[in-house]
Amino acid sequence: MVARGEVSSILEDYRDLAVVTVCSHSSLQLFHGARQEGFRTIGIAIGKKPPKFYDAFPRAKPDEFFLVDSYEEILDRADELVEKSAVAVPHGSFVEYMGAKSFLKLRLPTFGNRKVLAWESDREKQREWLVGAGIDMPRRFKTPKEIDRPVFVKYYGAKGGKGAFIAKTEAEFREAIKPGQKYTIQEYVVGTRYYIHYFFSPLVEGGYRLSRGSLEMLGIDRRDEANIDEMYKLGASESLIDYGLYPTFVVTGNIPVVLRESLLPTAFDMGERVVEASLDLFGGMIGPFCLETIVTDQLKFKVFEISTRIVAGTNLFISGSPYSDLAEPNMSTGRRIAREIRLAQKKGRLADILS
Ligand code: ATP
Repeated sequence: MVARGEVSSILEDYRDLAVVTVCSHSSLQLFHGARQEGFRTIGIAIGKKPPKFYDAFPRAKPDEFFLVDSYEEILDRADELVEKSAVAVPHGSFVEYMGAKSFLKLRLPTFGNRKVLAWESDREKQREWLVGAGIDMPRRFKTPKEIDRPVFVKYYGAKGGKGAFIAKTEAEFREAIKPGQKYTIQEYVVGTRYYIHYFFSPLVEGGYRLSRGSLEMLGIDRRDEANIDEMYKLGASESLIDYGLYPTFVVTGNIPVVLRESLLPTAFDMGERVVEASLDLFGGMIGPFCLETIVTDQLKFKVFEISTRIVAGTNLFISGSPYSDLAEPNMSTGRRIAREIRLAQKKGRLADILS
């Protein structure tokens, strides 16, 4: 972990800040949003030449590409990014591809509180945090022997649903589990999924107030997952097993959704609890985060996971969402991050939002 004092001393020499992120996930939105707030942008790309698809999106193309051969190389060349006064904005792929351990060692001022990683990447600690905050999570089965109903099994880390599977019995679990990988077994919750995009600002004093700062809701999406979302077209999933077809949950895209309005107070209450608990546990989760929820027919939220940085579902709302529009038009999560950096800079509080 890079020490707080070290980040502050790096920042002392920073002048004209640049926003840097890895060219994947939500990078178009992040570059576009950073540019809207007047920042220079740098895209880290793996390979010998910049990804061509940015040419098709001139308003979201980074001002500069930083080419590396591997994710590990980013660690070794962090000094070059410091020279460019760069602030890293993490997203799911940035952290997952680099590896949480390396990401913690990156000697580059990074948006948000990197301490959150220890609480997010270990599913046991994540549960301790969320349940401790009063959040209702799906029941967890400690061992496969306890399986007495449909369960959902997933591995550690943000895998975009890859490898996750449903089992209804211990035998089904044993057949599908990959050895040597850490996993968690949750009750399979039946309902409808909502991925709620929040933003916690420790700097803003207004709006939906928390004990410190304020909470915003910038949008909600639902993920399109292959092949579970289309399997029904072939008939009952039981009969498909004869053809070797099992449901999989790999994210392929996102769909915009809104919640019935009467659920919004609970959605805010959940976000508030999670942030307040994070302030107590590790000094606060700063910036964007997402509660991944299932709403049952009893209108109860079950939160099956938290993502503690920008999620790709926010890409739907580059020009704003039905929620962010009611606070400020044209406010994407990417732009909101850049706005927070700007605000911190003006208040002389960059060290409070970077780690
Ligand atoms: P991420 O990249 O968000 O970290 P992941 O690989 O950790 O993804 P999850 O997001 O936890 O996996 O789960 C993938 C998908 O599985 C969800 O989008 C949802 O459709 C389904 N799912 C997860 N947990 C449950 C559950 N307890 N009950 C029912 N469905 C679930």
